[in-house]
Amino acid sequence: MEYSGFLSGEGSLKLSGCAGLQDSGRENLGADLPVAVYRLLEYSFKDELTERFGKEAQIQIFRGAGCRAGTFFAKHYLDLTLELSDFIAQLQRKLEEMKIGVLRVEEAEADTGKMVLTLAEDADCSGLPTLGETVCNYDEGFLAGVLTAYTQKPYSAVEVNCWATGDRVCRFQAEVDEGS
Ligand SMILES: [Zn+2]
Repeated sequence: MEYSGFLSGEGSLKLSGCAGLQDSGRENLGADLPVAVYRLLEYSFKDELTERFGKEAQIQIFRGAGCRAGTFFAKHYLDLTLELSDFIAQLQRKLEEMKIGVLRVEEAEADTGKMVLTLAEDADCSGLPTLGETVCNYDEGFLAGVLTAYTQKPYSAVEVNCWATGDRVCRFQAEVDEGS
């Protein structure tokens, strides 16, 4: 499935109206950008939000934005009718194809829905120095949004390992958030 349309009319300046515009209007430069540009955007937003609203608010905003993106991504780029194993395989392919990262599922409990996911070569943090804390709050939200869209259950995801904690992959614990 490919999302390429501009949704005219209402909401045209929202995520739903702008996210698919990369395929047109850049005849010479094309649809790709360096990871450095992605990080310039991400980490400048991170600094600005932290300075204005504090670190906890910044984290929540990144998670919230990531969740919006993950939900959008799932609905527009993924077939949500597939069985779990096929859905995961499709998600892995699409994340690699779009150069977001290399996904692996380490654990998946069929009865509880709990999952442990790793993302290697993650666009957000790969190669960062050790900072003593995880930094991929956007990815936490993104994965939660994808899983929520697929299962129709309110997932949350928490990063427990990250390049910024000295690891070489990002590892996320995802589970259905019963409190929502
Ligand atoms: Zn990370």
